[in-house]
Amino acid sequence: TTLSVASILSESAIRHADRPAVFFNGDSITYRDLWDQSRAYAGAMRARGIGRGDRVAIMIPNVPDFPRVYYAVLALGAIVVPIHLLLKAEEISRMLADAGADLFIASATSLGEAAPAAAEAGVPLMTVLLPPDAHGDFARLEVEAATAEPIKRIEPTGPLDAATILFTSGTTGTPKGAVGTHLSIVEQVHAGLIDGVQVRSEDVTFGGLPLFHTFGQTSVLNMAFRAGSAVILMPRFDGDEALKLMVKHQATVFVGVPTMYVGLVEAARRTDARPPLRFANSGGAALTVALLEAFEAAYGVPPYEGYGLTETAPTVSVNTYGKPTVPGTVGETLWGVDVAIADPDVEDRIDFIDEEDGLGEIVVRGHNVFKGYVGREEATREAIVDGWFRTGDLGTYRDGMLTIVDRKKDMILRSGYNVYPTEVEAVLARHPKVAASAVFGIADDVRGQEIHAAVLPRDGVEIDPAEIIDYAKEHVAAYKYPRVVHIVEDLPLGASGKILKRELQRMFDPATA
Ligand code: ATP
Repeated sequence: TTLSVASILSESAIRHADRPAVFFNGDSITYRDLWDQSRAYAGAMRARGIGRGDRVAIMIPNVPDFPRVYYAVLALGAIVVPIHLLLKAEEISRMLADAGADLFIASATSLGEAAPAAAEAGVPLMTVLLPPDAHGDFARLEVEAATAEPIKRIEPTGPLDAATILFTSGTTGTPKGAVGTHLSIVEQVHAGLIDGVQVRSEDVTFGGLPLFHTFGQTSVLNMAFRAGSAVILMPRFDGDEALKLMVKHQATVFVGVPTMYVGLVEAARRTDARPPLRFANSGGAALTVALLEAFEAAYGVPPYEGYGLTETAPTVSVNTYGKPTVPGTVGETLWGVDVAIADPDVEDRIDFIDEEDGLGEIVVRGHNVFKGYVGREEATREAIVDGWFRTGDLGTYRDGMLTIVDRKKDMILRSGYNVYPTEVEAVLARHPKVAASAVFGIADDVRGQEIHAAVLPRDGVEIDPAEIIDYAKEHVAAYKYPRVVHIVEDLPLGASGKILKRELQRMFDPATA
C-alpha cells in the first residue's frame, strides 16, 4: 500500500485547482500553480540524484518556497528535515549530521549560517530566493528547476516510511530530531480536520506559526492544504502586522502559540479593525484562562486549546470544535491517540496511575508517535518505554479531559514543596497590568530553589515588582508566590514562539550572571 503526505498538495491541485493556496506579500498562488512549481523543483532535485529515503534538509522561512520545496521532497519519496530559522552554523551542522542529510536547501536569507554549516557537515547546498546578482557560486534550485523535467507522479511510499525528521523546539535543551511517518501526519490531518481545526476550503487560515515546526506544519500547512483553504504566510510574527494581514485577507481561522495571542490582544487595543474569525486554536504552551478571555473579548471567538509535541506529530488532545471549550484543559484525545497517566519517578517501565484525579506523567501511544530520535539511541530508549511515549509533562486525565499541570523539568522545588509555574502564571495573567509572565526557579542555598517571575507589562504601563508580589500573595498559598519579580521589556522566545525559561534562569541567576 502507498500513502504520501505529498498527495495533500497534488490532490488539492485537482480539487481546488483555481483557489488560492497561499497569500504572500500581496500576491496569491493557486493550488494548481503551486503544485506545478513544486513538481518542477522535484525534477531539479531528482536530477541531482535525490530519491526515495534520501534526506533533504530545508531552511526556509514562511514564504511560498517553503511549501514548494517541502512537497517536492516528499513527492520524491525523500525525507524532509526542516531546520529552525535563527540557528547558528554550528547548531545547523549538528542537525545536518544527526539527520544524515544528503542535500541542504537554504533560502538566501539563511545563507550566512547555512553555507558554513553545509561545508562543515559536507552536505551539498542549493539555494532558493537568491538575488541574481548575489556573490558566491551557489547551485540555485529555481534556475535548475526551469530546465529540469518536472516529475509526473508521486513516488510511492509506505505508510510507515519516514516522511519528516522534525527537531523539537529546544525549549528545555538541545533540539532532538524526531522521525515521523507518512501515516502519522496523514492521520493527524484527517482526525484534526474532523474534531480539531475543522478548516474548510472557504476558510482563510493565518499561518503565523513557523512551518519548520510540527505545529505549523501539521495544523496550519497540511490541514489547510488538505481542506483547500488559503494560507496567509507571514515570515516573522508581529501582532500588529498579523492583525493587518488577517483583516486584509479576511482570515477566518487562526492557529498559534500563546505568545502570539498576547501580541494579537495588544494589537487589538490599537485598532478597531477585526478579521471575521470563526475559529481559533492555541497550543505549544499553556494558555492562561485570562488570555483566553481577553482574546475572546477582543476577537469574538475563544481559542480552543490543544496539546501536542513534536514527537506526536503533534496533537495529543484538543478541545473539540462545536462543543464549548473548557478553559484550563487541553481537551479530549485526538482520534487514534491513546493517553494514560504514569508514575513520573519510575523510569524503566510504565507504572500506570489508575485512580481518578491521579497526577502524573502523561504517556501517549498511537500511530502518531515518532519512530525515534535520529542519532540518539539512548534518548529514544528513555522516551519510548513499553510502546508508550513519555512526554515529560505532568497532568491529569479525568472524565475524558486532559489537563496539563506543567513540564516535569519546569517544576520548582522550594523548601520541599512542589510549585508548578503554570499555576502561578495563570494568576499573574489576571493582573490588569500584566501582558505575560514566566515563573521559574533559581538555585538557592537555603531553600533549594527560589521562585522568580519575569513580568512583561501591558504596553505603556509601569509596574512596581512589589505590586505583583502582593497580588500573587493574595491569590496563591504562601509557598507558591514569587519572591523575586523582574520587570522585563521582552520575554526571550525560541524560534517556535515559546518562552525560554532556561534563558531567564541564565539572566537572573546571580551565580551565572
Ligand atoms: P525541547 O523538547 O527541545 O525542550 P519543546 O518541548 O518545547 O522543546 P515541542 O515539541 O515544541 O518541544 O513542545 C512540546 C511541549 O510543549 C510539550 O511537552 C509541553 O510541555 C508543551 N505544550 C504543548 N502544548 C501545551 C499546552 N496546551 N499546555 C501546556 N504545555 C504545552
